[in-house]
Amino acid sequence: MTDKKLIGVDLGGTTAKFAIMTMDGEIQQRWSIDTDILDEGSHITPDIIESINHHLDLYNMTPDDFIGIGMGTPGSVNSQEGTVIGAYNLNWKTPQYLRRDIEAGTHMKLAIDNDANVAALGERWKGAGENQPDVAFVTLGTGVGGGIVADGHLLHGVAGSAGELGHVTVEPHGYDCTCGKQGCLETYASATGVVRVARDMAEEYAGNSKLKTMLDDGEEISSKLVFDMAKDADALAIKVVDRVSYYLGLALGNVGNMLNPSYIVIGGGVSAAGEFLRQQVESYFEEFTFPNVKKTTKIRLANLGNVAGVIGAASLALQFNQQ
Ligand SMILES: [Zn+2]
Repeated sequence: MTDKKLIGVDLGGTTAKFAIMTMDGEIQQRWSIDTDILDEGSHITPDIIESINHHLDLYNMTPDDFIGIGMGTPGSVNSQEGTVIGAYNLNWKTPQYLRRDIEAGTHMKLAIDNDANVAALGERWKGAGENQPDVAFVTLGTGVGGGIVADGHLLHGVAGSAGELGHVTVEPHGYDCTCGKQGCLETYASATGVVRVARDMAEEYAGNSKLKTMLDDGEEISSKLVFDMAKDADALAIKVVDRVSYYLGLALGNVGNMLNPSYIVIGGGVSAAGEFLRQQVESYFEEFTFPNVKKTTKIRLANLGNVAGVIGAASLALQFNQQ
């Protein structure tokens, strides 16, 4: 057993979060920097390198104190090559050679994966997944992402797209999705999806509802407002949450039928709706799963909040311990 440490980096469009962790997943230091996406994102990688080196100096540590760095990033990640392309919220339009550049800049090994996958790893390791070998994770935020751990391994698929739960079709010929397809889960269950469902249902709704009045008056609404109003028994908001829960229950039911994980963990900003949302998704989930899956696969809420990514990212570096 070594007492070497791990570094986790969770790169997002507004901040990059960092943590120094033990191999048991205990966070010892945590900090963050703003993500500077100017000049085609060309400052991002140098800023990360500088921040890591600066903090090692600050804590009187050297690269020898670490097994390596694990990092989660938006975009299409090639874990083998250590590269990422198409991270548009970072202004990264051309391939970024993260492994080459960060290893050269920090003198530590780097493992990378996409942001949804590292959040899945974090929740699986230290959060709601209770370190079980079979855990699926869905994140409901600006978009809908996912990650799947099966038999203890994160699934990637042939081109890195395994676990893209946001693009599971839940409504043939449904809403147009940014991916070019129609009826993706993301178009209904992301933050903007919930608002879109609310707008469309308000048009046809004839009853008494404060949510409908707001929409008819052209007021801005958010997914949080829809859930809050549903909790306050607004008749239209209740129908909207029921519709969104139906699509989530359908998609997650089929994840259950296919993978039979111990837990399907729901995270991301929309999941702040909490137990109220979880219960409704669970009731549709039970409708769409066959008996053995219904009995053994549980729907849970994520419990690490926004540190899931950095914890999961750090866990990527554990692979260097065996080498
Ligand atoms: Zn899609």
